[in-house]
Amino acid sequence: MIPKVFFASLLVTCAVWAQTTQPAAPSGPAFTVKQVGNGVYAAISVRAGGNTGFIVGDDAVLVVDTFINQAAARELLAEIRKITNLPVKYVVNTHYHMDHVAGNAVFTEAGAAVIGNRNMRGWVRTENLKFFRQNGATPTAEQSAMVAAFIEPQITYDHILEVSLGRRVVRVVALPGHTGGDSVVYVPDADVVFAGDLAWRQRIPNLIDATTSAWIETLAAMLKAHPSATFIPGHGDVAAAADIASFASYLKDLRASIGREVRSGKTGEALKSAVMEELKPSYGSWGGFDRLVPLNVEQTAAEMDGTKKVPQPASE
Ligand SMILES: [Zn+2]
Repeated sequence: MIPKVFFASLLVTCAVWAQTTQPAAPSGPAFTVKQVGNGVYAAISVRAGGNTGFIVGDDAVLVVDTFINQAAARELLAEIRKITNLPVKYVVNTHYHMDHVAGNAVFTEAGAAVIGNRNMRGWVRTENLKFFRQNGATPTAEQSAMVAAFIEPQITYDHILEVSLGRRVVRVVALPGHTGGDSVVYVPDADVVFAGDLAWRQRIPNLIDATTSAWIETLAAMLKAHPSATFIPGHGDVAAAADIASFASYLKDLRASIGREVRSGKTGEALKSAVMEELKPSYGSWGGFDRLVPLNVEQTAAEMDGTKKVPQPASE
């Protein structure tokens, strides 16, 4: 068992990157379940890390992501049980970040198998430690033990995986951008895309592992393939194609602004301030703007000058 106080500190740590932009409610629901299609539900996070969701087929349920802690994952399982008694056979982790995988154990203990892109499996218990190393901190023994106990995917795939839930087929597709090990989950018969952290709705994204050049192409492809879909972003409310286009514009504008300001000789704090000024009219109302755009600038400037380090797939 991990003491409750530990989860409180985990939430504080993760708030830096998990985009909990609403004032954290001390009580009340950790998330809100919204039906987005026939048998397709989004669980929009209030204070549980990233969004999750679930898809009910004829003979099984597939869950997409598992929140930032096991308590929220248990609440999600309870919400599923209000709707169906079918077995939860699968969990898809859209990527390794702990606010999407920390509740996996709740579902594996209930009999589910965890699916993820091949690249992310090895990162669940290693790369997540970086979130406890921010600002020169060292992970505590408890934090290290928690990350070491995360459940990794048992089923991995490289490009595309089709999962049958009876007559309903769910398509899991690998797309680059947010971490290098991202999956989207598409439900063709309901035209719903669970985009993981490849999509953020009116939130400034976490770019710590991002390759924004590839991400912009991913979003264009996603919109072309699913022009009228309902999108469940990793953070923020249920979204439409226009929201995905706005998010793509943010990434493009961020890169363009950094490019201009670097060419005019700006670096460091001056670069961050100049880019913030340029982006503020269009994106200043998005959650986390003042806190996260400076980080976005630092990380994307490093990407653009070739010095950014991102997680690497394990060699074969
Ligand atoms: Zn993420």
